[in-house]
This record gives sequence, C-alpha cells and structure tokens, in this order.
Amino acid sequence: MAEGKNISKDVVLGEMALLSRPAHLWSMLLLEKVDFERIAIITPPQKQTQTFYSRYDFNYHYERRIKDIPGKIEFVHGPIKSANFFRVRNQLAFIIHREMIKNNFKPNNAQGDLSHIAKGLAEVVLRSHLLVKSMCNHCSGLGKLELFQGNCHVGQKICNKCQGTGKRPYTLFEKITIAKLNIRKAAYIKRYQKYELIGESVIAEWENMIRDQLARSFYYEMGIPNKLEEV
Ligand SMILES: [Zn+2]
Repeated sequence: MAEGKNISKDVVLGEMALLSRPAHLWSMLLLEKVDFERIAIITPPQKQTQTFYSRYDFNYHYERRIKDIPGKIEFVHGPIKSANFFRVRNQLAFIIHREMIKNNFKPNNAQGDLSHIAKGLAEVVLRSHLLVKSMCNHCSGLGKLELFQGNCHVGQKICNKCQGTGKRPYTLFEKITIAKLNIRKAAYIKRYQKYELIGESVIAEWENMIRDQLARSFYYEMGIPNKLEEV
C-alpha cells in the first residue's frame, strides 16, 4: 500500500501532526502568511467656501463653494494578525523566561516583570524569521553565495551577513523597539542578546524536529526497488 506513495499534502501534514506541540505549532506558523493588520485611516473630503465681497457694496458679501479638499485613505501597520504567532511567542517566551530565572537575570531598569521582557525578546526572534523586512544585499536574498575559482564553480556557502535567511536582519535599535525595552544598545549586547540567542536555538531545535519528521516520508521512496535492476 505504501509502495510508490507520493509525497502529497496529506502525507506531509500527517507527518507534521506527529510532531511535539511546539514544533507542530511552529510548522503551522511557517505555512501561514503572517502579516500585520492593515488599518485604514480615512479622511473624508472637506467642503470649502470662500467669502466674496461685492465690488459695489462692501456690506454685501456671500460665501461661495469652492473646490473640496480631497479626502484620502492611509494604511498603517496594526498589530500582527495571527493567533498562532502569539501562541508560539508565548511558548518561546516561557523557555526564555525559565532561563532568565535560572540565571537570576536582573533587568537594567525596573521595567515591568521578566515575563514581559521574555515576550519581547521572543517576538524579536519570531519576527526576524517570519516577516520579510527587506532583502539582504550581500547575497541578493538567496541566503547563500556561490563560490568560484576562476570560471569554475567550487561550491556554496551560507551568507554570513544574513545567516542564510536572505533577509536583512533587524538592527539593534529595531530589536530594542520591538521588544519594548528601555535600554541602551550596549546593555542589549551585554545582557539581553544572550536570551535572543536562546530563542534562536529553540527555533533551530524545532526545525530539526520538523526535518527529521519529514525525512520519514521520504525514507519510503528509497525502499522501492529499482525496476531496471529487477530485470
Ligand atoms: Zn545574505
């Protein structure tokens, strides 16, 4: 029955359903298009009038309708609209928070409690994976660089500017803003960045689970005997 089984959506989703809950949530989030809610701010057109005075009788004046000020619609970024995004963020924040407590981490200022900071840092990690900020210039968004020696293609390497993501990474200032921290860049590097990296390693772990799970589907294919060899 399994012979010649094609890799279909059902097969892939079936394998993914066997993942642990956090890894499964992550796989679902990767399939979803996470984006910001777009909020339309509508300014209606405005009527305008101008006062005209009679040339002959200065006591006589009247309001005349002139061209309206045109209305406009502007779109601004609202919050991220994905329930899964916040579910995964909370999972990640939980792990970061646990590490903070283990290390007796004290924030640089009395800014809320640790769980808020953990949520902020988890959001930085997730956004950098899911939202395209802009393309990495170094590798033109490919995430890898082709290596040549003379005219000869000798291999590939992961782009070190974007760590293979193909996206331009967030700057320190952007990270601090996203995490809603009230600290200096130096403090982020020295004390907070470590927890961002813990978040990254958790994502890497989930992705390894997804890779292993999907590999099971492909394993079947290798077991099918080659028809040519049978003859
Ligand atoms: Zn790059």
